Amino acid sequence: MSSITDIFGSLVFDDRVMRERLPEETYKALKKTRENGKSLDKNIANVVAGAMKEWAVEKGATHFTHWFQPLTGYTAEKHDSFICPQADGGVILEFSGKELVKGESDASSFPSGGLRATFEARGYTAWDPTSNAFIKDRTLCIPTVFCSYSGDALDKKTPLMRSNEALNKQALRILRLFGDDKTTRVIATVGAEQEYFIVDKELYYKRPDLMFCGRTLFGAKPPKSQEMVAHYYGTLKPRISAFMKELDEELWKLGIFAKTEHNEAAPAQHELAPIFTHTNLATDHNQLMMEMMKIVADRHGLKCLLHEKPFAGVNGSGKHNNWALSTSDGVNLFEPGDSPIENAKFLLFLVAVIKAVDEYQDILRVSVSSAGNDHRLGANEAPPAIMSMSLGDELAEILESIECGTAYCKKEKVDMRVGVHVLPRFARDTTDRNRTSPFAFTGNKFEFRSVGSSASIATPNVVLNTIVAKELCEFADILENADDFTSCLNEIICKTIKDHKRIIFNGNNYSEEWVKEAEKRGLLNLRTSVDAFPHLIKEKNVELFKKFGIFSEAEMHSRYEIYLDTYVKTINIEALTMIDMIKKQILPAVNSYINELVQSASLKNSIFPSATCELEKELVTELSDKNLALYRKCRLLEGHLEDLSKINGAKAQADHICNAILPTMNEARSISDSMEKCVAQKNWPFPTYNDLLFRI
Ligand code: ADP
Ligand code: MG
Repeated sequence: MSSITDIFGSLVFDDRVMRERLPEETYKALKKTRENGKSLDKNIANVVAGAMKEWAVEKGATHFTHWFQPLTGYTAEKHDSFICPQADGGVILEFSGKELVKGESDASSFPSGGLRATFEARGYTAWDPTSNAFIKDRTLCIPTVFCSYSGDALDKKTPLMRSNEALNKQALRILRLFGDDKTTRVIATVGAEQEYFIVDKELYYKRPDLMFCGRTLFGAKPPKSQEMVAHYYGTLKPRISAFMKELDEELWKLGIFAKTEHNEAAPAQHELAPIFTHTNLATDHNQLMMEMMKIVADRHGLKCLLHEKPFAGVNGSGKHNNWALSTSDGVNLFEPGDSPIENAKFLLFLVAVIKAVDEYQDILRVSVSSAGNDHRLGANEAPPAIMSMSLGDELAEILESIECGTAYCKKEKVDMRVGVHVLPRFARDTTDRNRTSPFAFTGNKFEFRSVGSSASIATPNVVLNTIVAKELCEFADILENADDFTSCLNEIICKTIKDHKRIIFNGNNYSEEWVKEAEKRGLLNLRTSVDAFPHLIKEKNVELFKKFGIFSEAEMHSRYEIYLDTYVKTINIEALTMIDMIKKQILPAVNSYINELVQSASLKNSIFPSATCELEKELVTELSDKNLALYRKCRLLEGHLEDLSKINGAKAQADHICNAILPTMNEARSISDSMEKCVAQKNWPFPTYNDLLFRI
């Protein structure tokens, strides 16, 4: 292996390459565009495209693609080769500024939630120069946004970029009020810790549920799973270690800051955390990371499962979205400072987040909703569906004393009035961390833990950026007109703590008591995605996104439709897969075992007429009954699916899924799992949890 510094970013058209390969004028113009969002002149685009192509071809690329993130949650690409025919029968390689900047694509097969009328099938992709172009599979990939011809966003990146702008604008207003005229930009930074499972490829292909649904629909709990905590931070098995090493190299080549990896709590579960970067790039990188995990696993005879809950009864996978705000000079605005005024600024930003999370619990909840994540949230391993924040005991006490105007007396009596005293640095000791909180302040950043492992991080960050921008805007409106800045600031901070402290909870979020307590506090508990989705289009939320130019009303409604549609399709596929596995695999397997038992009894009887066949009789009776019950559940499920196809409207369909289909699927599963426990291993038709979780 060549050295890390040599390979790092070797497949990325990054600042180093730009500086080396672009004429100085062009480099400067492009840099301006990247930093301030200024639009790029056509001639400059041509020069950049030429340099990009030359660089890519030297690296072995033959094609280019606009790489975008449609509302499927995956990435999309359509490859065009660089060839351009010549009169002499040969070709030259070409790539123009026009091709770099804008692409046309048939949008009709991507979800649009009704935004794109069918007669207008075209969509276009537009270069996002703030995220670097890169080479993947001998193709130059140009990160782009994806819109309809009328300018509606059809992707996850457009609103993310809009929300970055909104946040930047409002945060700068606040900084200016504190006399900061140096900072040119405020950027949200994100580090997304990715959890995943790895299983053996051969076993994977023997499970239609894993292949079609990404999760197991059946499977009895093994005698041992994660109770011994043997796996967490455990030694890596050689196959896993080899996979991780290669994954790191691939990610480093793509300029992704792959940093920390370890075994997670469940057997066969792992985590990879990158070093944080600005939101836009972090989002691209997370998509690439998920893609690379799958590709590299496959090369090692393995399969990477990104589903939120591949196995019932063991921990599911999430994606902790660490989020903070950074100035153009790299100052983290959630880091308490060294002077009273710095701390007042810190507190103002902090209470903005507290207010935002409280007022917009519902859209935060929507932003992490999916059929997959429903299995995970509230399943005693992941935060519940109730949104709350933990601040750690120390900071919570400080806020309390600010609110009451009393002295904070941890070590010494200090006056905690805002702007009067220096705040203590908060312990970043991991033992002190509340790991059950959906939204935890961890010293200098917030960790949003409810995000699902397979989800794009774009949506939760759009929501975070927007709701915080809204609160900062509200504060700035007041402060800009204040006669006495300091007393107004004090008032805002105290009042916000008082009005929104119900969202702060430092206790155990997994406990039953919290569910009751949260209800008393009037916090929302949107248990399922289907409960959550309609909140997206509530008037207050539509107004919010419209006001900051993130989503138009039509865009909001389209996203609501897509959420529901995706949900319905996902469960429909799961139910069909379940029926298939029951009919084609489980029923016949159990029957053949019954047949063996009957034959064994009859043989026994013919040779030893006096022998009892109690064992065979009991087992045959039990299994026959259960197999019949399973068959009946399967028929019931088929009936529910038929009803589903007759229901109009995605919301009504989703309700039918929650009320009828999912409960029936759960019942079918539990019958099958109980049979799995008493059918001979050789008869069971697919690999068990024992095989999948422990045989790497
Ligand atoms: P842990 O949470 O396990 O203690 P760290 O605090 O080092 O680990 O970081 C976890 C993740 O948070 C990493 O991906 C890291 O890059 C990211 N992170 C750290 N600081 C910030 C920040 N200011 N903004 C966004 N993400 C951050
Ligand atoms: Mg963490």
